[in-house]
Amino acid sequence: MLIGGERVAAASSQWLESLNPYTGNPWALIPRGAAADVDRAVIAAHTAFRGREWRGLTATARGKILHKLADLIAARADELAAIETTDNGKLILEMRAQLRYLPEWFRYYGGLADKVEGRVIPIDRPGHFNFTLEEPLGVIAAIVPWNSPLMLAAWKMAPALAAGNTFVWKPSEHSSVSALAMAPLFAEAGLPPGVVNIVTGLGSETGETLVGHPNVAKICFTGGDATGALVYQTAAKHIKPVTMELGGKSANIVFADAKLDNAVKGVVSGIFAATGQTCVAGSRALIHRSIHDEFVERFLKIASVARMGNPLEETTQVGPITTQSQYQKVLSYIDIAKQQGAKCVLGGGPAQRPELGGGWFVEPTVFTGVKPDMRIAQEEVFGPVLSVIPFDSDEEALAIANGTIYGLAAGVWTADIGRALKMAHTLEAGTVWVNTYRVSSPLSPFGGYKRSGFGRESGLLSIREFVQEKSVWIETSGADVPNPFIIR
Ligand code: NAD
Repeated sequence: MLIGGERVAAASSQWLESLNPYTGNPWALIPRGAAADVDRAVIAAHTAFRGREWRGLTATARGKILHKLADLIAARADELAAIETTDNGKLILEMRAQLRYLPEWFRYYGGLADKVEGRVIPIDRPGHFNFTLEEPLGVIAAIVPWNSPLMLAAWKMAPALAAGNTFVWKPSEHSSVSALAMAPLFAEAGLPPGVVNIVTGLGSETGETLVGHPNVAKICFTGGDATGALVYQTAAKHIKPVTMELGGKSANIVFADAKLDNAVKGVVSGIFAATGQTCVAGSRALIHRSIHDEFVERFLKIASVARMGNPLEETTQVGPITTQSQYQKVLSYIDIAKQQGAKCVLGGGPAQRPELGGGWFVEPTVFTGVKPDMRIAQEEVFGPVLSVIPFDSDEEALAIANGTIYGLAAGVWTADIGRALKMAHTLEAGTVWVNTYRVSSPLSPFGGYKRSGFGRESGLLSIREFVQEKSVWIETSGADVPNPFIIR
């Protein structure tokens, strides 16, 4: 782990095996951190937060360090991508693209570091000068899931450090290796010891201590909504602010006037890219009834020949499920969909072929005849399972799209700009993509509506999640203090 600038094992000297989802075999050992390690990491971060080495830096100097870190990550992007693919089974092409772009978050927030300005208030109390300071919060605890380990950490770390906070990062126990491989880069970039700390281990053994630690100022959580609720409860007990990036059941809505081939590719990428293991998976395809059959036909033409295999090979299009328990969960949702009467037109079970190693593969699966209230259309599967739902009018499409507890993202496929704008205004989702899907940038805010969470990552305003405003009053007239028993 990385604590106070030192590479350390867990205090207990225990280790966890990290499994390669393609083979199902262990390929790395990670320290099994526990409460004592979390405590050391938070204290190191808190000491660094108060120390001169970090607090004494100008915002401009912090920004330059983030730029250096970006360059170091860029130089090792392909190596880190290969580690992530081995650890979480997502395609090497996907992880490489993610890692090559990830430095942009550090560059964007590095540039923003010295533009977080306070205000001079034109105060209405004569004889006083009033201004604000934007101050860092302290120790930020980041808890991230296994599907995009470094990217989801970077979305938190870059603005947190730019604003002058320090950081304790708990990666998922299923994909911690890339975080540990990145650990040497922080010192190399010039970050003082303790500014970034990494604690690995099981969520249940490290999470509660981290969230409830008195020296943690804020928790940034990305993960499932059930875990999110636990984190939120613990944070509430300790009156700590949180941001929550949770799950989704995003709808990809295809209208009759859409460029059909693009829409088909968009829906394929929404659900089968990353084997459906992405928070923004477009797991519901809402298709206008007039083009439904043609859409399904064209969709199956692509999806039925998607190449499954070793995610480290560039020709692979669908990789394994990251964990065995997730694999079981995906298969159980396929069974539930069948029991509830959805029609399976592709896949529908485990994929077992010699070229698929010993890992956890599920056939890309498509259900038609899905009713909006079926569980497969309401609950997050987090796997390669698409529900196709026909609709007859814009209003019906909107009602179905908005008819879940989630609100992370939505896709709209149409040639009609008026319809696109109306949808963008009325869809209950933190991101709406029109004639595109799964595109993100450090410049654009990302986050959920409804049970998909709150708070935003990326974009200009998200740095505000990492500062607190202090109001400073100065008496300027030199007048005697009037009656001290009356509020001024
Ligand atoms: P998860 O909720 O099981 O775990 C997320 C993290 O929480 C892990 O690091 C885990 O160790 C930790 N954790 C577990 N129990 C904890 C506890 N009691 N206290 C504190 N931390 C604890 O999620 P997952 O299975 O790793 O990831 C999949 C989920 O993440 C999906 O629901 C997906 O939609 C969501 N996700 C959301 C976004 C987003 O930005 N909205 C992005 C990616 C993934």
